Amino acid sequence: MDEPAAEVVRSIFRLASQGNGFTRIAKMMRENKVLTPIAYFNLHNPDYFKSDYWRQEFDWHCESVRVILNNEVYLGKLVYGKEQNRSMKSKKRIKNPKEDWIVVENCHEPIITQDMWDNVHRLLSSKRHEVKTGDVQIFAGLVKCADCGHALTYSQKQRADGSYHGSYSCWMYKTHGKEYCASHYITYDDLYSVVFADIQRVIRAYDYEPDRFRNLLNERCSSNAEKRIEALTAEYEQKTARIAEIDKVLNKLYEDSALGRIPENRFETMLQTYDIEQDTLRKSLPVLKAEMEQLAGQNDASSRFINVIRKYTYLNDLSAEILNALIDRILVHHKEVGSDGSEYQQIEIYYRFIGRLDTAEKAKNVA
Ligand SMILES: [Zn+2]
Repeated sequence: MDEPAAEVVRSIFRLASQGNGFTRIAKMMRENKVLTPIAYFNLHNPDYFKSDYWRQEFDWHCESVRVILNNEVYLGKLVYGKEQNRSMKSKKRIKNPKEDWIVVENCHEPIITQDMWDNVHRLLSSKRHEVKTGDVQIFAGLVKCADCGHALTYSQKQRADGSYHGSYSCWMYKTHGKEYCASHYITYDDLYSVVFADIQRVIRAYDYEPDRFRNLLNERCSSNAEKRIEALTAEYEQKTARIAEIDKVLNKLYEDSALGRIPENRFETMLQTYDIEQDTLRKSLPVLKAEMEQLAGQNDASSRFINVIRKYTYLNDLSAEILNALIDRILVHHKEVGSDGSEYQQIEIYYRFIGRLDTAEKAKNVA
């Protein structure tokens, strides 16, 4: 393997997993005087390009970073068919849609792990905004409104002393107003401290009594899945029964119509109504079946979660990398006022693979 080149790829993935965007990574590569892929190629093939245009050694662009982060070859996969010639005559290449790529796995030694790839691509697919201070928005893509389900948007104001004050509120509220959703306002600092405390609690729980924690998770995961499978099975049976029932009703309806017991127009309307209902029910069955099958194969969720938290035994602060590795989503409720006049706000943290951990549901006292 070309080790120096592999190290450049690894460092780009590492930076991306820490929440840095293409532009910032390109900037860091320029600042650290890392040779661009083309300059690196020139180093080994000095006579290939004649023009000096190709010799801007450290001139990294965000596009080169993007291409590297999307290249599955680094996973040890070979990808065929990414492009095809439009016709025999034309040299112009067109991109094939992703479904048409042929991926051959484990062809050579992978440069990065599947886990690293997944983390980076989770981050890339969530909408991210790098804010004015240049700080990376570590909660990007994770914080959602508990009522309407839209993302909370981040904004910041500069204080008189020059420091920044960041906060979140519901996207729906911000763009459409209070008729559509409540503000769900929370400051960055409050969100940070609640999430940080909760992650630390989870890590400590594992750290003190690993076996107990593992058993607890196992129980929870399987009982959650079992409960859900039970509910889905009941729904499936109920819907199947209703489909059969409608069959009987339809038979009766045809009979009544044939014997002239109901007027023609009434027959048409009823027929249509039952047809639609039956069709909807039939379409929902495969969806239920698919979810049941998925749940049945999910019993290793707790070990996957434990594998992740074992990496973060000493946690000094939060980063996009840690948050995306551990957390699936954070639901922020709107502030409520209790009967005694005190304000509180509920924040639900859903961990990856395992969902909510009992104590993850907590109230933050605002007053
Ligand atoms: Zn909302």
